[in-house]
Amino acid sequence: MFEVEPVEESSGFCDCCGNRTRTVWGYVHKEGAALASYFLQWTVGRSIETHPANFDLIYGSWGEGTTKGDRCAISLIHFENAGVPGVSVIDATNRPVALSELVGSALTREDILGTPLAQEVFAIFDAVIVQDHRINSSGRPG
Ligand SMILES: [Zn+2]
Repeated sequence: MFEVEPVEESSGFCDCCGNRTRTVWGYVHKEGAALASYFLQWTVGRSIETHPANFDLIYGSWGEGTTKGDRCAISLIHFENAGVPGVSVIDATNRPVALSELVGSALTREDILGTPLAQEVFAIFDAVIVQDHRINSSGRPG
């Protein structure tokens, strides 16, 4: 259903422990059209139990004739609790992606939960985890 196109990546350092962080980004296409750009950031060598991975999306319409008003920021967190991995929607308003010049608004957890958009966003997350081989090849978050 979704086609994931890896684009670039960067690294940095975790604020709390100084371990290296890794951010990979790319695009998600649906039926041939760009639907979202994604950014997955995690701390290398640290469990997502103590260092949840951030998954941010710029979601909406792309290309000619669109403006940032056609796109919004959506943020998820990938964590582990008692050995069970999970994904949950968080407020994008507090994330750096909310300040991107490519987005017109940032959605909150309440904006998304219980809507069809929530299903789509979780499906996008799953597609990225499966299809972006950078995530699996050098230490998937966790
Ligand atoms: Zn840390």
